[in-house]
Amino acid sequence: MDSKSIHFSCTLCGKCCHDLRLPLSLSEAESWLMDDGELEIFVEAIPWPGEPPGDNLQAAHKRGRSFPAMCGDLPIRIIATFVASFNGPCPNLLDDMRCGAYEKRPRVCRIYPAEVNPSLELVPSTKSCPPDAWTAEKPLYLASGRLMDAATVELIKQARLADIVDAPRKDDICNALGLRHCALANEGFSVFKVDRDAALNAMEESRARVAGETSASQWTFVSNQRRSVETLNSIDARCIFASTDPEATYSYLGFLEAAP
Ligand code: SF4
Ligand code: SF4
Repeated sequence: MDSKSIHFSCTLCGKCCHDLRLPLSLSEAESWLMDDGELEIFVEAIPWPGEPPGDNLQAAHKRGRSFPAMCGDLPIRIIATFVASFNGPCPNLLDDMRCGAYEKRPRVCRIYPAEVNPSLELVPSTKSCPPDAWTAEKPLYLASGRLMDAATVELIKQARLADIVDAPRKDDICNALGLRHCALANEGFSVFKVDRDAALNAMEESRARVAGETSASQWTFVSNQRRSVETLNSIDARCIFASTDPEATYSYLGFLEAAP
């Protein structure tokens, strides 16, 4: 076995089906809601004062899965991730650890433990899979980083395409649901729990979205970092401290220790 390649075979332990925030496409989110699942929207935003060079693949990936908006005078791009949310076992998990919705399980469940984001490398220690899952004969990734399973490669392509196709409709859905607060990308997420009926209505109405139209709606940054709050406000963007928003309709999930 090559020491740098990653070998994997699922042991069916079911650990990856617990305590999750599963990123979904819009059609999967609709189906999850119709099955009475709980949905949250994780929002992060990137300041986007100008277009990056065309050969910046990481920027192209972020651009494709985001929609344009404004924060005060600052152009930004919003990434809204619709996630199936549950603590404990997935509502679809059966007692014998099989998936009770196997045929219609979300794409991300089919892809796991591989990574959808092209800038992320698979790190086995960050995954739920037990040690013996990584001792299989069959390589999942070669040392070159090439993913070996053709079906997973295809699913990842589909997931990235769905992100791009869904982004403009997410603009409409966020508007319809009144979402207006975004975390700064790489600092955290603003997390909105959505009302099932309101979200389903917004999803339905967003189907009428005209290609190429954007709302360029106004958003406010939320941060737990004084430096970010001061810097953004100094350039006529709007940013508030996560902990001082009395009207918050969201929770703030920060990656960094608060620095007020
Ligand atoms: S849908 Fe199925 S595979 Fe996905 S987390 Fe739930 S039980 Fe696991
Ligand atoms: S945690 Fe890993 S090994 Fe266990 S069921 Fe999930 S994918 Fe398979």
